[in-house]
Amino acid sequence: MNNREEKTGTVSLIGKTNVGKSTLLNQLIEQKVSITSRKPQTTRQRLLGIKTTGKNQIIFVDTPGFHQGQKRALNKFMNKVALNSIQGVDIVLFVVDSLNFTEVDQYLLDQMPKDTDNVILVINKIDKILKKENLLPFMGNISKSYDFDALIPISALKGNNVKELEQEINSRLPLADHLYPRDQIADSSERFLASEIIREKCITRVGDEVPYRLTVIIDNFKEESRLVNIDATIYVEKNSQKGIVIGEQGKRLKAIGTAARKELEKMLDIKIMLRLWVKVKKNWTNDNNALNLMGYKVV
Ligand code: GDP
Ligand code: MG
Repeated sequence: MNNREEKTGTVSLIGKTNVGKSTLLNQLIEQKVSITSRKPQTTRQRLLGIKTTGKNQIIFVDTPGFHQGQKRALNKFMNKVALNSIQGVDIVLFVVDSLNFTEVDQYLLDQMPKDTDNVILVINKIDKILKKENLLPFMGNISKSYDFDALIPISALKGNNVKELEQEINSRLPLADHLYPRDQIADSSERFLASEIIREKCITRVGDEVPYRLTVIIDNFKEESRLVNIDATIYVEKNSQKGIVIGEQGKRLKAIGTAARKELEKMLDIKIMLRLWVKVKKNWTNDNNALNLMGYKVV
């Protein structure tokens, strides 16, 4: 029990490749995904994202990649899944692709724990189902082979019913103190690191010409399966400074981007796609409103 009545739980998404797990995760976190823990971890799951609303904190954890067809790989995968993704979490979302329930789905389903009350069947891609009247019988059939605690049809792509799924998750979170600060996503350490590295590369390349009047804001920091997409804006105060940062035919900006990308790839140990923009914002350093808009908290 905790004093603040906070609820915190880990959630994993299990399902075949292509059923829409990543799409769903992005919907649930509303594009704010990015807390990743890149350091090699042997005992803990890799963090995919955190969503804190009110007293509820949902921590999404990774599930290993899965290629069907190879028996050995399948077994290896299942061992990993069983250990990390099914038993070690508070809630399992078992995701299937519309009404296509295959042998592989059945195999995965057979591994689900029988004695918990936190396995939710997520029937994704309902926008693809032409005969809606087939949905209920499908749910009835699948319930015969496993006693799901909830069955929720959604469209991760269109966002249909995703809020309802989130409520269902929230209602099942155990009472526990939050593990992460509620604004973790806004100023995650990796985002901060990225902005600092880009800033450093700018400063070393522009010399004294644009000394301290330069800041870097990370507009987007999004993890795809094997890479991180980063969009960042370099803010300067004057047009002349913008020209200096960009350089002749964009050469300096390109060099800044390359150097920052290489260093980030080394530090985070993942491929990075980095896009940089340069914008002029007059007197931003004196303007609290502008700073707030850029994500700095000015107290
Ligand atoms: P994952 O391999 O399980 O992570 O699947 P992805 O999230 O990468 O999605 C696989 C494909 O299915 C992508 O092309 C998605 O756009 C598509 N997809 C995901 N959710 C939906 C959905 O609700 N409806 C439709 N029609 N397509 C979807
Ligand atoms: Mg995926």
